[in-house]
Amino acid sequence: MERRSTAHLIESEVVVVGGGYAGLAAALRLHDEAVDVTLVEAADRVGGRALTEIRPGSVTIDHGGQWVGPTQTHLLALAARFGCPTFPTWETGSHIEIWHDGARVPYTGAAPADAPGVAEYVRVTELLDALARTVDTARPWRTARFAEWDARTAGSFFRAETDDPDARRRLDLAVQGLWCTEPDDISLFHVLFYIAAAGSFTQLMETRGCAQDSRFAAGAAAPARAVASLLGERVLLGAPVHTIAHDEQGVRVHTPGAVVTARRAIVALPPPAVRAVDFTPGLPESRDGWLAHNRMGRVAKVHAVYDRPFWRESGLSGVATLYDDGPVGVVFDNSPDDASCGVLVGFVYGDRLDRFTALDEPGRRAAVLAGLVAVAGAPAGHPRDYTERIWTQDPLARGGYAAYATPGGWTAHAERGWREPAGALHWAGTETATRWNGYIDGAVSSGHRAAAEVLAALGRDTR
Ligand SMILES: Cc1cc2nc3c(=O)[nH]c(=O)nc-3n(C[C@H](O)[C@H](O)[C@H](O)COP(=O)(O)OP(=O)(O)OC[C@H]3O[C@@H](n4cnc5c(N)ncnc54)[C@H](O)[C@@H]3O)c2cc1C
Repeated sequence: MERRSTAHLIESEVVVVGGGYAGLAAALRLHDEAVDVTLVEAADRVGGRALTEIRPGSVTIDHGGQWVGPTQTHLLALAARFGCPTFPTWETGSHIEIWHDGARVPYTGAAPADAPGVAEYVRVTELLDALARTVDTARPWRTARFAEWDARTAGSFFRAETDDPDARRRLDLAVQGLWCTEPDDISLFHVLFYIAAAGSFTQLMETRGCAQDSRFAAGAAAPARAVASLLGERVLLGAPVHTIAHDEQGVRVHTPGAVVTARRAIVALPPPAVRAVDFTPGLPESRDGWLAHNRMGRVAKVHAVYDRPFWRESGLSGVATLYDDGPVGVVFDNSPDDASCGVLVGFVYGDRLDRFTALDEPGRRAAVLAGLVAVAGAPAGHPRDYTERIWTQDPLARGGYAAYATPGGWTAHAERGWREPAGALHWAGTETATRWNGYIDGAVSSGHRAAAEVLAALGRDTR
């Protein structure tokens, strides 16, 4: 179909709503199959929750998604197609644990061997892995103990499994680190599904060979920008979709500056952003119910930039886990591959984020730097650049890393509401992925799956 465009009306065969990795991957796949596609993005950039900024001194900072692991083959293939290289995450040297009583424990590997709570933590996480192996990620509702696990929270599971307070501190921080929420807020089934979608708990938590393996030399948004540049004028930026009218004939997607008509739409937005769109007619009850049971994680990412990665000189990796009352839960060395400067990144999540956002900017900065000093020493208190990104305050993402299901959501709504097309509407986004759900890789594969649905619906042969 030819696309005809006037100032305000664009006719296209397929419209994709959202220019994050899911929408871009869907649009690219359709474009590769010679389908006329228009992608509509609210922001003035593509990439969504992958947001790369060049800071003073030409320092590349990823405020959102940054890491990629070797089993994240959808993202790696996309990056390879556009020639976007990666480099290994720095983890040479001693990692540090900071405890609630101020103890500072150096270690190498996954966790300090004899530290408090480690044995119990390992036992419970191995149990999570064993349960996750029974999850059917493609049809989660067919999992044998689906309803039982979805009726309870991760927190209730931890309390039933262990009364070791240090193990519980470790488990709580793991939930904050992976889902940016607190254990009592998230469905146990969601936790198990997510572990299954990644392959194992270790895959989620670790660096080498796992989710935190590598970073993109030009930032995690580099492949997204390359896709957008290939799609060219098919990408409309600064076009927030407020209404989607749909029937058997097709869809009309309304933005303040343009209306896009198409036979099919792929909506590639995070769940709260889907809820903010006015669908006419309204969405099926199951889809509405599913979206209502999905909550975005609460996360901020903070970066401090130094002249050099000075902590490496004293044998520290820059990797740290903090069980104290400060805002930062985990720290990584985010320096560039050539170590031309030193960068520490800190993650603030769950309830820690609520305490963090209650402070003013100088207070937040002071609290973060106090944590970095505890990890890396006094020079960490004097960065040459400091920047923070509070994702709950982003009007389009509304949180991160991703949405998670609250108890009961999977059971009540997922079979029809998770990602089943509603007439001419198809759903993409990392939250609809069966592999690496919540990650950029999941976003890419969800875009491919939605594009395949649309190609089938249009009766197109695919290669
Ligand atoms: C702090 C943080 C750290 C993370 N770390 C990692 C990591 O290291 N590795 C990893 O793999 N993943 C990580 N993630 C998760 C990863 O970034 C996301 O899973 C992925 O980017 C989601 O892609 P998506 O296309 O599904 O959604 P999004 O990226 O959210 O894309 C949705 C797009 O829709 C647009 N939009 C919203 N509303 C409208 C509207 N009404 N009209 C038009 N457009 C609209 C948005 O602007 C956005 O561009 C992290 C996320 C965050 C926030």
